[in-house]
Parts: sequence; C-alpha cells; structure tokens
Amino acid sequence: MNDSEKVKELDQIAKKICNCTLCPLSKSRTIAVPGSGNYNSEILFIGEAPGATEDKCGIPFCGAAGKFLNEMLAEIGLNREDIFITNTVKCRPPANRDPEEAEKNICTSTYLDRQIELINPKMIVCLGRHAATYMIPGMPPISQSHGHAYKRPNGKIYLPLFHPAAALYNGSLRETLKEDFKKIPNIINKIKQQQITDQTDQTD
Ligand code: URA
Repeated sequence: MNDSEKVKELDQIAKKICNCTLCPLSKSRTIAVPGSGNYNSEILFIGEAPGATEDKCGIPFCGAAGKFLNEMLAEIGLNREDIFITNTVKCRPPANRDPEEAEKNICTSTYLDRQIELINPKMIVCLGRHAATYMIPGMPPISQSHGHAYKRPNGKIYLPLFHPAAALYNGSLRETLKEDFKKIPNIINKIKQQQITDQTDQTD
C-alpha cells in the first residue's frame, strides 16, 4: 500500500468513526473522537476513552490530562504533530464510566486494530490499564508493569504507563509517570538498533 492509499483509508476510518452507530455510546456522545496527529509516527499513543472536553472538541487528550501529556512529550523533545494518538473506544462513556467489554470489543475490532495496522508504529504507548490490557494480553497489573517495555509476537514493542488523568492529582503517580515517560527515547533507540529481542522486559 502506498502513502496516499494509507492516508485515504485512515481518513475514511475517521469519517466512519464520526458516523458510527455500532454501540450504545453513539447515542450519548456529542461527537466521536477518531484520533489525531501524524499518520507516519513511529510512536502510537492509546488512551482509554474521550472525556467531557474531548467529547466537545473531537480531539483526544485536549483537556487537563492532555495538557499534562503535552508537557511530558515536550520534555522528551516531541509534540503532538510528531505522534499519533487515539483511544481504545472513540466515544465518551456517560459520566466517564469505564468502557464496557462489548463497547471495547466492537470499537477495537472495527477501528483501532486497522488504525494500528495502517500506521504501523515501532512502539505503542498504552496510557492506562484499559489500553494496556487490550494491547498486552496477560500483562501483570499496571502497578507492576508500568514503565516496562514488552515485545509481543507481532514484533511490536508496547509500553504500559499510568494514565495521565490518574496521575494528574496524585503526586507520587505523577512523578512515576514522568520518569516512565522519559524512557521512551531510549526504548525507540533500542528498537532501531534491534536490541529488544525477546518477549520480556528489556528496558532496565
Ligand atoms: N482520557 C483518555 O483516555 N483519552 C482522552 O482522549 C482524554 C482523556
């Protein structure tokens, strides 16, 4: 597939998401949030679900958690145009409840899996346990797995992190997330040098 076909299909997926009626979240959302950023990014960030701010602006992480995320990106020399960011589910769950299994299954199998295939990043950063448990089946709890890179049989590297919203108002989680985030450039360098060779944590 050439670059223009890839852009075309990713744009088509975004349009389908905006008109999606496959699950009950489509009835309560204001607007769907397909994802934003660079289709050629080496790093894909995946959050949980749009919150109240995203439900109005249509862009992932455009509220308070997003501001914190942008600060952490800046500390490692990246901005939102360098990366692609999306969510496990594309519509806001009412009152910010957790997305249900069925909602996650429909949304990931219809949209997220194909977004990942097309963007084909070197590394997937999972923001919070919903993204992490979907992307890394069998992963230890996020309290143990955060900040450790996992290589999966598909050859991709996954980094589970605490969710920026959870860390926003919790001093110690906040510091842990900031420290874990700083591992991203090193992990990318190791991937490029093909130094991550098996399925377990290779970052320490
Ligand atoms: N939290 C998420 O997981 N995703 C967003 O887009 C915003 C907040």
